[in-house]
Amino acid sequence: MKIPLVDLVKQYQNIKPEIMEALSRVLDDAAFIQGKYVQDFENAFSSMLNTENTIGCSSGTSALFLSLKALGIQPGDEVITSTLTFIATVEAIVETGATPVLVDIDPVSYNLDLDQVESSITSKTKAIIPVHIYGNPVNMDRLMSIARKNNLQVVEDCAQAHMAKYNNKFVGTFGDTGCFSFYPGKNLGAYGDAGAVITSNGNLTGVIRKMLNHGRAEKYLHDTLAYNHRMDGIQGAVLSVKMKYIQQWTEQRRAVAAQYNSILKDIEKVIIPQEGPLAKHVYHLYVIQVDNRDKVLKTLNQAGIEAGIHYPVPIHLQPAMQVGGYQPGDFPVAEKICSRVISLPMFPEIKEVEISYITDILKKAVN
Ligand SMILES: *Cc1c(COP(=O)(O)O)cnc(C)c1O
Repeated sequence: MKIPLVDLVKQYQNIKPEIMEALSRVLDDAAFIQGKYVQDFENAFSSMLNTENTIGCSSGTSALFLSLKALGIQPGDEVITSTLTFIATVEAIVETGATPVLVDIDPVSYNLDLDQVESSITSKTKAIIPVHIYGNPVNMDRLMSIARKNNLQVVEDCAQAHMAKYNNKFVGTFGDTGCFSFYPGKNLGAYGDAGAVITSNGNLTGVIRKMLNHGRAEKYLHDTLAYNHRMDGIQGAVLSVKMKYIQQWTEQRRAVAAQYNSILKDIEKVIIPQEGPLAKHVYHLYVIQVDNRDKVLKTLNQAGIEAGIHYPVPIHLQPAMQVGGYQPGDFPVAEKICSRVISLPMFPEIKEVEISYITDILKKAVN
């Protein structure tokens, strides 16, 4: 059997006629950049997540950067985030000129440790980026209360957490902004790079819209020098089609996670993901911990199972982060988890027989 980590081909085959029709409409209208199809997507995304404004942009990374920049983050400021994330979270901070301040993670949720967030706040701290890692929501009630108490801005990194909820409220709607990636492999994926910022702040919406389109006030009149981070019409059209299925796909992901859990919970040597009492996890990744990670991963791979590691190296130990002056041992929880995690194949269309096959190989590999 061959089982991919994510199966984008199967998903496409299931919705091919609708996608082809949507693409041909964009081409017929030559609506290549922004325009009607991006606007339709923005409106649908806002109503789906119960938020006032969605601003389509070029990627999740640009959504994070534009949010920080529009909130006034600048050189000399500090922005707190997790050491267990994709590098883009930190790149967006560095791109504004601000200093990323990393914190360790909670060993159960894998999200940033909120005690350490509190103790890392200095007079220079301006913002926090909670990352809803693997699709598991951060405790946003506590995070927002820390932020309010210290007058800090909050930019949520929801790149892995479309439709995840904390305390019955969608992630992305707690902070000043919520940032989404539609990289093809994400829970809601475009057919190229794309992203979005959501916010209830109308002023901020205007600032970000202008900033991602060359600081343009009207045609060939520019208020500021800015950036090109626009969304393509094709991506807007593809996302509008896929959005009709995202609710269903999310429930399927949760059902797949429940199947994995029910088989793996009794295996002593496997630690399964935990969903907190107020959390609705959307399982962008289904991540387990095992003792002998590299050996187990090799066994899975040799059996045709494309399991992965998210992530093998935490941010503070990345070669690119040497300037931060971090050392091995600084964040022991994240370091330990990075040496133990495996992401098992996770996509809505995965079959029960495939899950059985994966868990059978895994049971043998851990013993
Ligand atoms: C994917 C991802 C991003 C970046 O999104 P792009 O669309 O690839 O730029 C940022 N943060 C996290 C946690 C991600 O997983």
